[in-house]
Formats: sequence, structure tokens, C-alpha cells
Amino acid sequence: MQFIDLAAQQKRIRKKIEANLARVLDHGQYILGPEVAQLEQELAAYVGVPHALACSSGTDALLLSLMALGIGPGDAVFTSPFTFMATAETVSLLGAIPVFVDIHGDSFNLDPEKLTRAVVAARTGDPRLHPLPHTGGAALRPRAVIAVDLFGLPADYEAINQITAKEGLAVIEDAAQSLGASYQGKKAGALAPLAAASFFPAKPLGAYGDAGMVFSSDPEQDALLRSLHVHGQGEGRYDHPHIGLNARMDSMQAAVLLAKLELFDEEIGLRQEVAARYRQMLDAAGLVTTPQVPEGYVSAWAQYSVLAPDAGQRGLMMERLGQAEIPVAIYYPKPLHLQEAFAALEYVPGDFPVSEYTAERIFSLPMHPYLEAKDQERVVAALAG
Ligand SMILES: *Cc1c(COP(=O)(O)O)cnc(C)c1O
Repeated sequence: MQFIDLAAQQKRIRKKIEANLARVLDHGQYILGPEVAQLEQELAAYVGVPHALACSSGTDALLLSLMALGIGPGDAVFTSPFTFMATAETVSLLGAIPVFVDIHGDSFNLDPEKLTRAVVAARTGDPRLHPLPHTGGAALRPRAVIAVDLFGLPADYEAINQITAKEGLAVIEDAAQSLGASYQGKKAGALAPLAAASFFPAKPLGAYGDAGMVFSSDPEQDALLRSLHVHGQGEGRYDHPHIGLNARMDSMQAAVLLAKLELFDEEIGLRQEVAARYRQMLDAAGLVTTPQVPEGYVSAWAQYSVLAPDAGQRGLMMERLGQAEIPVAIYYPKPLHLQEAFAALEYVPGDFPVSEYTAERIFSLPMHPYLEAKDQERVVAALAG
């Protein structure tokens, strides 16, 4: 059994992928070839936003989004500590400060109530309201929120967008795990004015290497993003109004993604079936807490993550799965506020208790569109021991 079975998918579209790659080999435009522009158009239409910029990874999509907002030293960017490193790392790379806000225990996404308090605390410099990062006495300037759609479930954008509108903050959707998901009829990638997607091979829509996308609704912002992803290039090739990056998506990855996009909606549908079967089987077994998808949401099910009653039981269940040769993983064993890389921010254990509680109990089961009921039965039987 595979944790994510990319081979089963490839078998279905191998010919299409080979034909698309052969076209790139024939035209030879390895950088910014026609496949890249075509993918941008198709994904912008799929997500339902006016602009999409193909880039080199989800991490670079986040970095470009922050750069397009002019985020820099002294700026506070509010985000979840229960996410992949890239979400907060890009904030620090620009000299800005990640201000972590704890998650809600049901969705594993940023808790809007705690966000409100965090923004007030940052503005007033009052750590009694919310645990604030160490800044050496410098004031925090609230600028933006990065909301993460963890495991494929969109964050609560209705509440988040209300808070950010009131507080004058920008919002970036970290949609690295959520392409294909939706919230109140809108697709992930369209839930905030800027959204970053990842096509890392294991994501719901994966390339055969690193690739990403920035979705945006403002034409000027799109033009800036486009410049930033090619060395801040201007009208002429050697004209540089901005400090930028080399963050292009290559034509080969776009060619692969175009082939996979044809299957994508069907695969999102299959993921719903797999998740529903897990839910039924696991709830009947009663060993773990299964993920809930609230009314109005569709998850992309990037991961199927469950909670054990405690760390010891998690260890035991993971051991049983290992013995049955069933792959299993922990996303994420250590929240970002406790990572050594952020030690200078001086967060301490206890600052974000829901994230810490979750990190001790969560684990993810095999999840992909081609997972069959008999495999899932085997997973649940192994869990029960
Ligand atoms: C994967 C991921 C990223 C980074 O994407 P890459 O394409 O690997 O750079 C960012 N945020 C989250 C939540 C992710 O899961």
C-alpha cells in the first residue's frame, strides 16, 4: 500500500504526459514555453480568479505574495504555528516577524477569535492578551495574515476576511494543500486576494518536481508578481525596477500539470469517497477522532489526519500500522513556534496549547484517489491491532 499512489494516477495518463513532454522537447522553449501560459489560463479559470502566475514552488508563491505586498522588516504577519515550515519561513526571510495565532482544535486551521486578540496585542504591544514574539523592544506593525488551508480544508475566510478588513490587513491564502477544495461555493485559491498554491508531487495536484502558482485578482498586483518572479524585470529584458527572484515554473512541469489537470476534478471526487469510507470505518472502530468537514466546505483531502487519545496511543497505533507495512506519517510533530529556527522570537511551550496538543496526537493515514475499500479495511484492522 502506498501513502500517496502516484503510480496509479500515472498509469491512467502516461500517454498524455509523454505527448505533452514530447511537445516541449520539440519546441525547445524550456523556460516560459507556451505550456506555462496555458496552465496559468486553465488554472485561473478553474479556481475562478482573473490572474494566475506560475512559479517555481509553493514556497516561492508565498514569498512572491509577501514581496508583492511590500512586506519587510518590522512588519508583523499573523499565521498558524501548525503548518509546514514554508508558511512562516518566507515571512522571516523578508525580515518580517511571524506572529503565531493558535488553531481551532476541530479544523486545525487558524482560529479567528484568537486572531482578533493577536492583532490588538501586537498593536498595543500587550503580551497579556496574546503571546507575542520577542522583538528587542521594537514595535510590531500588523500588515498581513497568512491563513493556511491545512490538509485541504479551507480556513474560515468569512471570519478572517471580516477581521482583516476591519484592521486594514492583507490576506494571503496558503492553498498549498487545498487546490480542488471549496468554501461557500468558492474554490480554494480564490478565498483571499492573494493565494499561493504548490504542485509538489505529493500535493493534490502534483507536478513531477517543484512548481507553484500565485492567484490574484488585481491586474497591477499580477504585473508586479510577474516582474518579481523574473528578477524584477521591467519593460526591457535588462531593465530592473525591482529586486526580484528567479522563480519561474519550467515548461516541463507545466506540461505534466496540464495532463494531470484533466483528471483533477474526478480525483477530487474520488477523494471524497475515500474520506467518507474512512470516516465510516474509523467512527465504527472508535479508536481515533476523525476529521470533520463543516457545512459549506469541501476538502481536497491532501491528508487524512486523525487524532489519537494521547501520545502513547498514537505511538502504539503507528507501530501496529508499521508492522502491517502500512505507511503512516505525522504532520506536524513540532509546531513552528517551538522550532529552533524561530528561537530568536522566544516563544515557549504553552504559548499555543491547541497546536501543541494536536502535534502530540495527530497522525495521517494513506490517502489518495485510488485507495480502495479493501485497503482501508486493512488500515483500520491494523489500527485496532
Ligand atoms: C507544501 C507546502 C508549502 C510549500 O510548497 P512547496 O511547493 O513545497 O514549496 C507551503 N505551505 C504548506 C501548508 C504546504 O503544505
